[in-house]
Amino acid sequence: LTDRLQQAMGRLRRKGKVTEADVKEMMREIRLALLEADVNLQVVKEFTKNVRERAIGVEVLDSLSPAQQIVKIVDEELTKTLGSETVGIEKSPKIPTVIMMVGLQGAGKTTFAGKLANHLIKTEKARPLMIAGDVYRPAAIDQLKVLGQQLDVPVFDMGTEVSPVEIVRQGMALAHEKKNDYVLIDTAGRLHIDEHLMDELSQIKEIAQPNEILLVVDAMTGQDAVNVAESFNKQLGITGVVITKLDGDTRGGAALSIRAVTGAPIKFTGIGEKLTDLEVFHPDRMSSRILGMGDMLTLIEKAQQDFDEKKAEELATKMRENTFDFNDFIEQLDQVMSMGPLEDLLKMIPGMSQVQGMENFKVDPKDVARKKAIVLSMTNAERENPELLNPSRRRRIAAGSGNSVVEVNRLIKQFKESQKMMQQMSKGNMNAIPGMDQM
Ligand code: GDP
Ligand code: MG
Repeated sequence: LTDRLQQAMGRLRRKGKVTEADVKEMMREIRLALLEADVNLQVVKEFTKNVRERAIGVEVLDSLSPAQQIVKIVDEELTKTLGSETVGIEKSPKIPTVIMMVGLQGAGKTTFAGKLANHLIKTEKARPLMIAGDVYRPAAIDQLKVLGQQLDVPVFDMGTEVSPVEIVRQGMALAHEKKNDYVLIDTAGRLHIDEHLMDELSQIKEIAQPNEILLVVDAMTGQDAVNVAESFNKQLGITGVVITKLDGDTRGGAALSIRAVTGAPIKFTGIGEKLTDLEVFHPDRMSSRILGMGDMLTLIEKAQQDFDEKKAEELATKMRENTFDFNDFIEQLDQVMSMGPLEDLLKMIPGMSQVQGMENFKVDPKDVARKKAIVLSMTNAERENPELLNPSRRRRIAAGSGNSVVEVNRLIKQFKESQKMMQQMSKGNMNAIPGMDQM
């Protein structure tokens, strides 16, 4: 989705004023971009109509308002299409809250059940019970049991000989008895929608009276995901959508369309195979990411999670007191390295995704190791007071760390820039962050 749209946005962003012709061209690009990304035609029409009306009606005819206005309208409308606000799990007033996963085979239902259990445990110390309702493949039950063991969550199953409806009935009784606060029901899927499956799911729904029926869809299935979502919604009345496999090279089109077609909010996204690869869905952030404005909030959140809070506080104090030194510098390097693939993080910084050659950009862990080696070859006095680093000291450090003087010089220069940025940030000047000035 993003390439075309980003180009069009970029062109517009550089213009001071917007004419009606600009809006027309922009709308054409947006239409194409959305269609290319597998967004449902009806959704595209609706979306471009809304943007055009707002853009032409208000800001553009006087041709005085900046291009930023249009970017803002597109962003707002896209956010609206994606669902406007973050919607969490609908809780039952009385325990247990019952959540049923439905979807095609391989969509990621079982994996998501595990991820959701983990999420509920982490965020609210929940005591969920999982029910193995996919009896058609023995491996499906084992898969859920393995997840249950990893999470220390009980899994209720009765093998493959009992009907899923009966399993759910007994599983629900057990949850009431054990006072579990959540029941997660894993169900079977088929390769295609089929009536027998829908009947079975309807019966399970009848018995379990779920608070949530979450449709799990694979982002990679594109346009087909929309049809699937429509039939599941018609038959069962889904209450929310989970989009999995957004970690791959997938386009966001399905996400855009499903929300619009079913009216059910997207609640979570799956971004990998691990239990922790789950994100609460934020429409506004997704919109920004699609529009290439970067996903600053996700970036900040990720940084916060991985950043030892106390260290961050110390760093903030140092920034204020202007005592950021080489010791902090390597600590920072370590923290950045522990946050995961750097290039992923960098792409979330506004503007970065448009930087030429960003696709090929890779951060080399060896390079980080080399930097660390250089700093470690400094004496403590030098680390705390980089002004001491005269040419002879630099030569000694180069030899000590097995690097050239050029590399040592480069690192010192980089450190000084980093220091400068820290100082500016501590004064509240966010423009010091690369890309921020483009927002
Ligand atoms: P189910 O048939 O709907 O229960 O699907 P599963 O939970 O068994 O998942 C099918 C496959 O997709 C498994 O190999 C999972 O590891 C994988 N999978 C599930 N969610 C994600 C995700 O968010 N990202 C990636 N990359 N793989 C996923
Ligand atoms: Mg499964």
